[in-house]
Amino acid sequence: MDLELRKSLPSERKARQTALIAAVGKLGREKFAPRAAKYDREASFPFENYDDLRDHGLLGLCVPEKFGGLGADFETYCLVSAEMGRWCGATALTFNMHASSALWTGPLSDDLQVSDSERAELEQRRTLHFRRMTQGGAIYAQPFSEGSAAAAGKAPFGTLAAKVEGGWLINGKKIFASLSGAADYYGTLCTEDKPERSMRDTLYIAVPAKSQGLTVTGEWDPLGMRGTVSRTLVLKDVFVPDQEQLMPRGLYFRAAMSWPHMFLTLAPTYMGIAQAAYDFTVQYLRGEVEGQPPVKRRMYPTKQIATAEMYIKLQQTRALFERTVAEAKVNPSKAERLNCYAAQYTIMENANELCRLAIRTCGGQSMLKSLPLERLYRDSRCGALMLPWTAELCLDRLGRETLYENGETDD
Ligand SMILES: Cc1cc2nc3c(=O)[nH]c(=O)nc-3n(C[C@H](O)[C@H](O)[C@H](O)COP(=O)(O)OP(=O)(O)OC[C@H]3O[C@@H](n4cnc5c(N)ncnc54)[C@H](O)[C@@H]3O)c2cc1C
Repeated sequence: MDLELRKSLPSERKARQTALIAAVGKLGREKFAPRAAKYDREASFPFENYDDLRDHGLLGLCVPEKFGGLGADFETYCLVSAEMGRWCGATALTFNMHASSALWTGPLSDDLQVSDSERAELEQRRTLHFRRMTQGGAIYAQPFSEGSAAAAGKAPFGTLAAKVEGGWLINGKKIFASLSGAADYYGTLCTEDKPERSMRDTLYIAVPAKSQGLTVTGEWDPLGMRGTVSRTLVLKDVFVPDQEQLMPRGLYFRAAMSWPHMFLTLAPTYMGIAQAAYDFTVQYLRGEVEGQPPVKRRMYPTKQIATAEMYIKLQQTRALFERTVAEAKVNPSKAERLNCYAAQYTIMENANELCRLAIRTCGGQSMLKSLPLERLYRDSRCGALMLPWTAELCLDRLGRETLYENGETDD
């Protein structure tokens, strides 16, 4: 598959997107969907799915072609991710942590204004990380969350990196680290340890899983997204060589300021779950769910109206999703930024709403654990909780930014 994709010309971007979506759809339908119930039941990581992704060159999905990857841009990534989420939410959500590591340090960083020396450093750093992803088959995680205001983008990260000879000494704790125990590298957001620390001092450093002083702790038995295995990471005097920085000093903060859509990449997984809930409803009402008696329920007018309402909600969500990922760019206009918050909110809330409607419409037998709908419902509940853009924080930002221009006050 990757050979075929690499041969295509840049002008064939749409065809490449379609080919990637089809390839992931095939993997999802044939491999990920049949395994999803097991990972959910065991709350275990989908290692076999990652073997498939690796075999198909997809660990390099967002690695630029000049570094040996498939060169997916932001929009392409989001569309592919939504397709993956349709078949296994936990695989898509964890894959987001890996793929965004390449997206942020690849095409998104290329859009930032950087000095010559920063450009040279970025090139050197990412050459190493991209090679690991494409040739070494390495998996990268993205632990941000600390249980403080930092992951919401309102305070510096409490995990500190002190500069020492040849590298960094890192101390701190990260909660909800998806891919814990499965990743080869943890792309850790931390603050440079110096007086008067600010969010500008954020560092983005890949901590090798085998580092001394790094431990994975805590239980993992959540409501949904159980296959993400998002346990706690404790970093105690972890030495990490300079080469593990994913971005030069200061670049992460600039990326967060000028490429805000970078935080939208969690949403496509939930777009996929919304689609899956709708797909299931249609199959179920037609009596076509595999392994189920061929009982048709589609002839009842209430079912038809409910399905029509689900279809409308799905299309509204999809339209905003597609528009938003297509207009994503560096330094977006105010309207584009507001659309982005609105899209995140809409996708996360509607995914759960569509799953709720699906259960109500299909009825009692549809929510048995032998069918995927109850898992979709539980997984979809997690979307609105994902920082930095929880549903609440999207409302918060939208409420303020629709009514105030930058710097405006009522004093
Ligand atoms: C399945 C799953 C996988 C995850 N994977 C990862 C991962 O790989 N990496 C990672 O870094 N994180 C991950 N997270 C964590 C996630 O992004 C959030 O950080 C986490 O859900 C926050 O939980 P909390 O209870 O600590 O939130 P709290 O910080 O207690 O916040 C509770 C709520 O209050 C609101 N809130 C928080 N801060 C503010 C503020 N400053 N102002 C106003 N309102 C605020 C928000 O709406 C938030 O939902 C994952 C979460 C889930 C559920």
